[in-house]
Amino acid sequence: MYDIGIHCGYVLPMQAGDTMVLQQQFLAIHQGKIIELKAWEAQDKDRVVKFIDASHQLVMPGLINGHAHLPMNLLRGLAEDQPFWQWLQQTILPVEKAFVTPEFVRIGTELALLELIRSGVTTVCDMYYFEDVIADSVDKVGLRAVLGETIADFPRPDDPDNAGNSYRIVEQMAQRFNDHPRITTCIAPHAPYSCSDSTLKQVMHYAEKYNLLIKTHVAETREEVEKSLADYKLTPVERLYKLGLMDHPTLFAHGVHLDDNDIELLAKTHTAVIYNPKSNMKLSCGIAPIRKLLQQNVTVGIGTDGAASNNSLNIISELATGLKLQKLHDADVSITIKDMLGMATLNGAKALGLGEHTGSLEVGKNADCIIIDMMTPHWQPLYDIPSALIYTANGSEIITSICHGQILMENRQVKTIDMERLYAETKQLSAKIHGHVTKK
Ligand SMILES: [Zn+2]
Repeated sequence: MYDIGIHCGYVLPMQAGDTMVLQQQFLAIHQGKIIELKAWEAQDKDRVVKFIDASHQLVMPGLINGHAHLPMNLLRGLAEDQPFWQWLQQTILPVEKAFVTPEFVRIGTELALLELIRSGVTTVCDMYYFEDVIADSVDKVGLRAVLGETIADFPRPDDPDNAGNSYRIVEQMAQRFNDHPRITTCIAPHAPYSCSDSTLKQVMHYAEKYNLLIKTHVAETREEVEKSLADYKLTPVERLYKLGLMDHPTLFAHGVHLDDNDIELLAKTHTAVIYNPKSNMKLSCGIAPIRKLLQQNVTVGIGTDGAASNNSLNIISELATGLKLQKLHDADVSITIKDMLGMATLNGAKALGLGEHTGSLEVGKNADCIIIDMMTPHWQPLYDIPSALIYTANGSEIITSICHGQILMENRQVKTIDMERLYAETKQLSAKIHGHVTKK
């Protein structure tokens, strides 16, 4: 007997990034893995402990949010209509300094995980402070995650004196989660502009020692590139390349202001990029050159960034915005629905170093999938499922979510978070933050 069996009316497996939809299939899950994906037969129902009837629904891989700062859900709506540097230096960093504690991080992370589950995400890549506390919450709630403690030269809430506590967190996580089925440790230098060469070399040392993915914000604003050229006579990407950082498995969030030479360096070193269209729009950063990146075979995933700069972790809405923005940019329609679905599934997984484990529904991979209710007014009539997923869906259609064979949400009921307690804790903490900000 298998743990779970799903009768799928429709399946979008995303195998090899293909958007072909199959009908009347049976998906069997056992001990966290996909065991069978084959044509449905009535007797399949008798071979499973838990049977899910999705015979009128769509089953697809769980979505991947490639760049987030989960606890920043508690800062949502706090700093609006500001350009990037003012947003970061005058609002976000001072509020974080005053409020970010392990308790803040736990509550903010749980809120974010709840939002992710509700919008179909089963894998997230995060960078923040007290990343070990984030790992505890992710472990408890049941998502898959790549988690990077932030390293920087400025004082951080979990390393106020730059005394090496951030590196201790990285080491403890690398050891603790070495064999974890869902959690992977990475190391996250904040950005080239906030890390000296010696800090970046230290990051490379830990990446080498524990075989970690390096994740960092890169070329998010034009000013960042101009300052790098003034200080180092190199673009941020050229500087990281010259330091040897891109010789490690590396992931860049944003990559808005990349020139052709930067893109060549990314392609040459197999460095992946996470596209964050809504955050880049909101903070007036610019439009990432996604068409050029794809033309050079750079792996591109998609992310929301934190809720203080988005203000949503809904990757479904990110996909529609991201595709329309690219079509508007250069008046070029060559980026397609298929490209965007790939970013949120298989290519997103590859960008995070998880391409062998998740991002598509195939036998042997981890059982990370979602079920989508298509009997909803805005999905009628239904000529093309991939089109509906990108241009029509808003996330409310997602009714069930499974990660590593565990049901996180069933018929819209999230099973692994006590929402009543979480909302009460959020109300209490956000009242203190609001009081602090308005007093200033
Ligand atoms: Zn970010």
